[in-house]
Amino acid sequence: MDDSYNIEVKLLALTEPSGLLTDIPLQERGSKPGEEVIEFAGRLCWDTTHKLGTDPDRIQKWIKSGHESVIEHASATFLIKASRVLTHELVRHRLASYSQRSQRYVRENEPRYITPPELVISAQSQQGAENPVAVFEKAMLDAWTAYRKLLNSGVKPEIARYVLPNACETQIVMTMNFRELRNFIKLRTSARALPEMRAVAGKVLKIMKQEAPRVFGDL
Ligand SMILES: Cc1cc2nc3c(=O)[nH]c(=O)nc-3n(C[C@H](O)[C@H](O)[C@H](O)COP(=O)(O)OP(=O)(O)OC[C@H]3O[C@@H](n4cnc5c(N)ncnc54)[C@H](O)[C@@H]3O)c2cc1C
Repeated sequence: MDDSYNIEVKLLALTEPSGLLTDIPLQERGSKPGEEVIEFAGRLCWDTTHKLGTDPDRIQKWIKSGHESVIEHASATFLIKASRVLTHELVRHRLASYSQRSQRYVRENEPRYITPPELVISAQSQQGAENPVAVFEKAMLDAWTAYRKLLNSGVKPEIARYVLPNACETQIVMTMNFRELRNFIKLRTSARALPEMRAVAGKVLKIMKQEAPRVFGDL
């Protein structure tokens, strides 16, 4: 995971079982809340709900056998701060819900943007050519100067934003069920994924390993 990206991933919500399941103390079984719901749903299929919590590997066995729909019964909601480059790719994951800070209704008065650390590495290794960090910073400055000029001349934020860069910082709330989260994590922690996306997916994985190790422990 690349910790040098100035991104944030925070867990906002997680599936909680109702009293129907919590009547049996969690500590006895060592399951996490979302896992409780999943195991109940899976055991219902075979009429073995009386065996709840007797097999710590039960959920992993279902995942490995392809009986993956059971893990769709739990979901997690995250608050993510990243660039619009990142969110443009993120929303390609269709089995999810998103709410993103609007550039139509919210003015981007301050120049907030994500600076890829790869630029710094390029700057350290470059010889003679223009410093990539300086080129990038100037582009950001120019973009926001143009944005403010357009707003000052009466152009609406929804139109003025056309000059803002992909690097523009944004916030997005994302809800995914555990099956989609596994798909997202597998695809987006891969070495082939965008570095900023790897940083976000790595933080999502770290959180989910803590919150539902019986579902995400193998990743
Ligand atoms: C390294 C990398 C490079 C990429 N490069 C590009 C690129 O250059 N251009 C580009 O456009 N995209 C690119 N993508 C995005 C990629 O094509 C997918 O759109 C994205 O990763 C979402 O994954 P997913 O299809 O598994 O989707 P999700 O929307 O997360 O869906 C989850 C799963 O549900 C099933 N599913 C969902 N919808 C359907 C459907 N309509 N029909 C059948 N099954 C469905 C599939 O099994 C799918 O895996 C790239 C992704 C990665 C990881």
